[in-house]
Amino acid sequence: MSSKVFFGSIQQGRDSAFASLAAKLDKLLEHLDFSTIKKQDKVAVKMHLGFAVGYQTVPVFFVRRIVKAVKEAGGWPFITDNPTAVYNAVDRGYTKETCGCPLIPIAGVKDGYTKRVKVDFHKVKSLEMGGVMNDADVLIDLTHAKGHANCGYGGAVKNIALGGYAATSRWHRIHGVENVFPWWDPDKCTPEHAQKLVETCPYNALAYDKKKHKMNIMRFACHYGNCNECLKADKDVGCLNLQPEQFEAFQEMMAIAAKHVLGTFDKDKRFFINIALDITPHCDCVGIIQPAVVPHIGILASRDIVAIDQATLDLIAKKGLIDSEIPPYFRHVNLDPKADLHPFQRLWGPYKNPYLVTKHTEKLKMGTRKYELIEVLPPDETLTMKPPKQTFERAPSFY
Ligand code: SF4
Repeated sequence: MSSKVFFGSIQQGRDSAFASLAAKLDKLLEHLDFSTIKKQDKVAVKMHLGFAVGYQTVPVFFVRRIVKAVKEAGGWPFITDNPTAVYNAVDRGYTKETCGCPLIPIAGVKDGYTKRVKVDFHKVKSLEMGGVMNDADVLIDLTHAKGHANCGYGGAVKNIALGGYAATSRWHRIHGVENVFPWWDPDKCTPEHAQKLVETCPYNALAYDKKKHKMNIMRFACHYGNCNECLKADKDVGCLNLQPEQFEAFQEMMAIAAKHVLGTFDKDKRFFINIALDITPHCDCVGIIQPAVVPHIGILASRDIVAIDQATLDLIAKKGLIDSEIPPYFRHVNLDPKADLHPFQRLWGPYKNPYLVTKHTEKLKMGTRKYELIEVLPPDETLTMKPPKQTFERAPSFY
């Protein structure tokens, strides 16, 4: 069985509003079918509202349209994300007035209103899910599709897997799971050798505390597989043991965390929308303006979280990287056309394989990687359609 993924391309057959992405979003929402939203259902629109000076999140233009459609279906929408992102969302244009609904921190004003969920994955025994997310009746997982330093890709799963939890769970447990594996042998490594390894890393991914004789690795900064500088320097000592499974564990942990969030909603009250525009190498949480490294794609909508992320990744793979837009701080990009790698692996290294998250979510029976891509208002169709008569502004108007 495959799932339906509806798709509106940024490309248009006519230079007219009826063929543009705004009209396509309205069509996508029709297909998504909000009729399962009941009157006064509390609808959590889970977004990543970004941080600091990064504006390349979901455009408020689309947010407002989606919120309007939820209200028309009888629901009471609110936008939610971590407290800090909510408090400074105004800097990126998100307010009650612009979005059309309130913005509420996902785990209360001090990030402490949570519901504990039990997990058993390596050393992680529980997670603190956002209480506000847990209170909602309906989920709209509204995601900006982009790259991610830890796992290659930030999509629908990541938006609720990390964004659905209070900060302590997000950072120490979900991100922290990568560090439960022994990857550095302190007995084999002298302080001098440790210092040499730190200096070898071109991405500052290694840090050594001489007093404690302790080495840390920031996996988000590590490009293992593309870069192997520390391993080359360690050849004769052998104190490092970087393995693909250590990177994969984060993606499996994300799948588990997302499954718990989905479990708090009825199956017919979960909606997924991926905005594949301004596809940056880093996640929105970095809070900076970045070059888009993949051409604009469009908007996807589905009721299947696995299918929508799989389809988004496939469309990104089809478009490929815009080589000229790759920032120079990526020193080890694999642009070999013969290498069977996703564009995000070419950037972040082969072990940050973005498809691992769809593999693990499918394994947890959260959906299927098989999908039928149904394009709405495709350019070749709108090319032959007669546009409605356009009215041009003849005088200043408030409407
Ligand atoms: S593999 Fe490269 S990026 Fe990763 S820690 Fe080693 S030197 Fe740094």
